[in-house]
Amino acid sequence: MDKTKNILSRRNLYPFYLFAVLLISAAIFYSCEESNIFSDKDDVELGKEIDKEIKADPNFPMLVGHADVKDYVSGIGSYILNNSPRITKKNIYPYNFQVVNDTIVNAFCTPGGFVYVYTGLMKFIDNEATLAGVVAHEIAHAEKRHVTQRITAAYTVNAVLGLILGGNPSMLSQIAANLFVGLAFLKNSREDESEADYYSIQYLRTTKYYPGSITFFFDKIREEQKRKGETPGGLDRLLATHPLPQDRITDANNWLKEISPKPDPTKGLFTDEYQQMKQKLP
Ligand SMILES: [Zn+2]
Repeated sequence: MDKTKNILSRRNLYPFYLFAVLLISAAIFYSCEESNIFSDKDDVELGKEIDKEIKADPNFPMLVGHADVKDYVSGIGSYILNNSPRITKKNIYPYNFQVVNDTIVNAFCTPGGFVYVYTGLMKFIDNEATLAGVVAHEIAHAEKRHVTQRITAAYTVNAVLGLILGGNPSMLSQIAANLFVGLAFLKNSREDESEADYYSIQYLRTTKYYPGSITFFFDKIREEQKRKGETPGGLDRLLATHPLPQDRITDANNWLKEISPKPDPTKGLFTDEYQQMKQKLP
């Protein structure tokens, strides 16, 4: 009698075992940094699609004409790619660097290496090294595949929930579709930001630029926030996609300390060249 009871209760527990196994699998998959259900080729396809959408979207006024400015930005991007052996996907991703003509202080990157820099950001900063620091940070988002990793994580959680709740394909496809609405998935997590900062420094170490130049950008944001007493309007969008907690600044400074010989923050800035280029901005 006791035996029967045990078997019965074990049977009743079966859904819970399944639930536990699924949750544990999801947790392992989720916590694995490299987990990504997309291939590099998928990243490129996704990036190309988003690039088309961006160019058709009046919210992203691409810079028209001004070949000198566009060449300057893509020149910095190509230079970093060619001089940073730590960037490993330069032959897999069709890296390109484009300019959005808007006052917003921001830059962003989509999967596959499509980097967009706003003229608002270019006017905001003081030297070429800072722009290189930002561009290297964006390259890191592509190299580390942050967007498709986030989609993978969201998709995995939803797929597991779907299995547990009995599965509902229409609900799942709805969730997948919603990930793309308003390019909301471009928002980076703190961890992604921190990793991109780290690699910005690493990528620039072998270039002519001061490797810690991303910190100049942080300094500018802090200055501007202090000066205006709050977050200035043009910075809202930047901080929406690139959160700037104090740890980002502290971390970047700590990583710089680990570099030997210590890089000189007064060298490799290219301020004069940059100021000349700034004159040409619309
Ligand atoms: Zn970022």
